[in-house]
Amino acid sequence: MTILEASVSRFSLTVDARDTITLMVDNADNPWGRRLHDALDFALCAESACVVTPYERVGMEDFRPDAPTRHDVADRFVADVLDKLQAEGYTTARTVFHETSSETYLSDGRTVTAVQVHRPFALVGVEYQFSREAHSRAVRYGHAYADRWEITGRSYIVPAGWYLVGEIGDYTSELVGVAGMDGDPDGVVFELEGFDASECAAGCQACGARWLAYADSWHFEPDDCDTAPWDFDDADGIDETTNTVACPACRIGRVGFMIF
Ligand SMILES: [Zn+2]
Repeated sequence: MTILEASVSRFSLTVDARDTITLMVDNADNPWGRRLHDALDFALCAESACVVTPYERVGMEDFRPDAPTRHDVADRFVADVLDKLQAEGYTTARTVFHETSSETYLSDGRTVTAVQVHRPFALVGVEYQFSREAHSRAVRYGHAYADRWEITGRSYIVPAGWYLVGEIGDYTSELVGVAGMDGDPDGVVFELEGFDASECAAGCQACGARWLAYADSWHFEPDDCDTAPWDFDDADGIDETTNTVACPACRIGRVGFMIF
């Protein structure tokens, strides 16, 4: 079983949400998630990004601001980029789950989205500029097309297939990682050991007492041993360096935590 490191402080007992997404990526079926990750980053950063089929030759004329032949898929959030890729017929996406940090031991909210890429694609980045003349036309008429543009880059090819896209954040979202999957990843993350972050085991190395708690209560019940239950909120001797608390049973040892 994979155990992620627990972080302990006065009012928190958490695992880093980012670590759980990394765990998902480390357990991917194939390495192609890196390609979709790069393409999504490309679309998040580019001023304008157009989707093309692999090896398709595109020229400046394809990106004329006054007669665009392609739609821009660049946006500020992954969900919006995926919506635009879906509108272009390249992908479909569904939210596997969205959790806030208050529901679990997670340090932050997290979102996992299953994405199916129906046919391979790449992205081409374009930047538009206004010349002085175009700028004065815009001032005079209230609207003008940019008259200068350049192709700024091209992403690697994203292969067709299934992907799991992992983001963190309660109120915003940050792309952390993408896992390439060999088939529809329905339910896969829930079987991933250590990913759930909903149970916490506590143990004292001095007296051997062990307890178990669940994210919704933080109330530790004895785990197959003869000792009293306790609440994390009442814990004494919290040490944020070693991520331990004083043992409520023997009062001598230190209690460490494992979240899974
Ligand atoms: Zn103890």
